[in-house]
Amino acid sequence: MFIKKISTGFIDFDEHISMNAYAIGCSHGCPGCHAESLQEFTTDQSFFIDDNHFINELDNRNFAIDSVVWLGGDVMYQIDRYLDLATIVNSRDLKNVLFTGFLFEDLSEKVKEMTYIIIDGKWNGYPISDVRTNQRIFRKSKNGIYISIPFKELKNS
Ligand code: SF4
Repeated sequence: MFIKKISTGFIDFDEHISMNAYAIGCSHGCPGCHAESLQEFTTDQSFFIDDNHFINELDNRNFAIDSVVWLGGDVMYQIDRYLDLATIVNSRDLKNVLFTGFLFEDLSEKVKEMTYIIIDGKWNGYPISDVRTNQRIFRKSKNGIYISIPFKELKNS
């Protein structure tokens, strides 16, 4: 996967410490995009993170995190690699939290199978904590069915 940077901390998965991966590439073209530098796709191999590199990044943080938050760009433009790396995350009993400009209804069943929280929709200028946002939050239940939840329930997820 082509990733610009990886960080640790609280990024929109309220009150959870996560490893945050910023994927390169996005064609949604949201007005006022907060990550314009990540819209352009790249073939620069220095940004490609293979399985071993990703596992090392997880190992360095495993003591502190409960999840991996996928930001961008939009990692859904690298869907095969997302499925590979999300599988590694799940194998460690960590949660995948996906931000995507695509709509929930348009995501593949495989992506939904791998992902615990999905925040969908293009950026309209308001964060998910703001009632004016158009983005929706979906959380997978124990039976595998997704339910739509309000922002305030993220911290208990
Ligand atoms: S989905 Fe995100 S990265 Fe892509 S254009 Fe919209 S705000 Fe920017």
